[in-house]
Amino acid sequence: IDNIPESQCDVLIVGAGPAGLMMATWMAHCGIKARIVDKRGTKIFAGQADGLQIRSLEIFDSFGFADRAWKEANHMIEFCMWNPGSDGVIRRSDRVPDVPVGLSRFIEIVLHQGRIERFFLDNIKKYSKDAIRVERGVLPESLTVDASKCDDHSPDSYPLTVKLRHLTEEEATPAQSNGSTIQDGLFRSNLADDDTDDLIRVSQGKEGTSEIVKAKYMVGCDGAHSWTRRQLGFELEGEPTDYIWGVLDIIPITTFPDIRMRCAVHSAESGSLMVIPRENKLVRLYIQLTEIKPDASGRADRSQITPETILKAAQKIISPYTLTYEYCDWWTAYQIGQRVGTNFDHKSRVFLAGDAVHTHSPKAGQGMNVSMQDSFNLGWKLGLVVKGIAQPSILKTYQSERRRIAQDLIAFDHKFSRLFSGKPAKDIMDAEGVSMTEFKQAFLKGNLFAAGLSIDYGTSMLVAKPGDAAEQGDGTDVSATTPVVGNQHLATNIKMGMRFPSFRVLNQASAKSVEFQTRLPSDGRFRLILFAGNPFSSAQKARLEAFCAALAASERLAPHVYRNIDVLTCHSGKRVETELLRDFPEVLRPFDSKTGWDYESVYVDDQSYHNGFGDAYANYGVDREMGCVVVTRPDQYVGLVAALDEGGFGDVEGYFDGVLV
Ligand code: FAD
Repeated sequence: IDNIPESQCDVLIVGAGPAGLMMATWMAHCGIKARIVDKRGTKIFAGQADGLQIRSLEIFDSFGFADRAWKEANHMIEFCMWNPGSDGVIRRSDRVPDVPVGLSRFIEIVLHQGRIERFFLDNIKKYSKDAIRVERGVLPESLTVDASKCDDHSPDSYPLTVKLRHLTEEEATPAQSNGSTIQDGLFRSNLADDDTDDLIRVSQGKEGTSEIVKAKYMVGCDGAHSWTRRQLGFELEGEPTDYIWGVLDIIPITTFPDIRMRCAVHSAESGSLMVIPRENKLVRLYIQLTEIKPDASGRADRSQITPETILKAAQKIISPYTLTYEYCDWWTAYQIGQRVGTNFDHKSRVFLAGDAVHTHSPKAGQGMNVSMQDSFNLGWKLGLVVKGIAQPSILKTYQSERRRIAQDLIAFDHKFSRLFSGKPAKDIMDAEGVSMTEFKQAFLKGNLFAAGLSIDYGTSMLVAKPGDAAEQGDGTDVSATTPVVGNQHLATNIKMGMRFPSFRVLNQASAKSVEFQTRLPSDGRFRLILFAGNPFSSAQKARLEAFCAALAASERLAPHVYRNIDVLTCHSGKRVETELLRDFPEVLRPFDSKTGWDYESVYVDDQSYHNGFGDAYANYGVDREMGCVVVTRPDQYVGLVAALDEGGFGDVEGYFDGVLV
């Protein structure tokens, strides 16, 4: 160890898949000294996950790159269900919108994981000013946690020691697992222009050498076979199922009429198939391989599976329609396992995220989304703790919030896979078979969950809902509650624990119509959103002024306002009868000696010229006269709803007392 170079970093991320890249993105936006290493020599260029759910797009938008995904991806509009009729021949039995209408400005889209990784890499480069780069061909060899230092949060305390090894070129190139001529995930001829540079691993002359990194925190985003998880001795609990599926990314040549729709096809005797229409004329087919059975150990022999065997299975399911292809972009086969990690956190110093703590079937398009959302939940918490802004105890909410989501995900997947992989019932007397009405109901009901919009974090120091944290967390390592309890009835559709929904409001100064959620970018700041109510009522005006005076004078909050707490306002008066500088206290539209007043903080719920009326107060469930105050966390989840008065101000101070250092 004596001759090995040693360095320090605040956060070490292991694994640069979607979970690791999301974590690195937060580090870049929060200005944290972080490193991210991955054992693979290059990023991935095709295949793997491809569905982006609504909530993931909202998150991408908060970092500033949803537009890239939105433009390149295929948009999912309709979901068609195909089932056998009484003659046993498949026919379309139903069409429903792919996601419920009116949930968000986004809908589900599909684009392969490699492109999504591209957008992350570019965003990390921009916001870290190129300080955070994925170090490829690097893996950890040992991890030591100095337990005596874990509770020491002084700036020079580094409880973790990690030995990293820089791999040689051969070691860093993943072996082709399937022995086929079509590459599984490293197919390069369809490479996008801006991916070419990543083909070449930047050699830093360190191949074959080791180094020691002293770190404050480490996040294992190293996938289903997580090395980090194994070092900590944590298990994944659950079972493999005996459903075996193949995946083909092809340009299909077919007579099947709904090939450009998302479809679930249940055949009478040959298994099921899912159609996911993709970018560039590609279609992904998930195909149940009923003829491949697991052996006595419960594992299927994957060497029997080739693109040809998968295509044959698909042809049987989709018959009497024909299906073939000339071009295959990527393929794989897998056996569904549904497992959740026992622990997501070791001493609030080492964390696990993504596939490292949950695995399940990919057909509901959840893997990448839930993985990214794990580290979206953790990243800002680590950022604020490292910077000394937030109490280290907020880190406990990572496990209490995310492990429950992983458990819900497995329960959802369990139900959805059974209904999707099961044989359709012949008639209502067929108790063994899957009822297609039940399948449709499960799809519709699961839709909100699958969109990522039903996440409702339990009571904790970050969510001032009534209730006991111990009851609402997962019972293993529960954080404290806030010293205050919010008043949900003041904003019936801004639910504490859920993401701040979006409706259109107008900028007071420019009359531009904006989605209100876009004013909550991921910059590591909490937000105090003042629904100021009716500015023409003198009583309400007095309440607003008293609240603002208390905010500007608060020993606890004033030093944080602007820097760590952003203040936004939305009033319910008439835009043309209100003036930014005349009617709103300074703290709501602060003055900067170099750039003048802030014109982007005060909004109004009024008619726009070009985008109609957002009716935000009604949609948010807030009283137009009295308004209320909402605190959102840096991840847009709602922490507190309080009254816009003296008592409410006390609640806001109490909330931040529990969170800020
Ligand atoms: P991963 O994307 O697995 O990323 C983990 C990263 O960690 C990898 O880059 C890996 O190289 C790196 N790593 C692992 N161990 C180490 C180590 N010891 N040191 C350093 N780095 C390490 N999802 C779908 O929705 N649909 C699909 O069809 C689908 N197909 C898939 C096919 C394959 C072959 C795989 C592997 C996954 C597939 N998935 C699919 C799942 C989806 O890709 C994951 O759910 C998602 O990528 C999870 O993100 P993650 O960041 O947690 O893990």
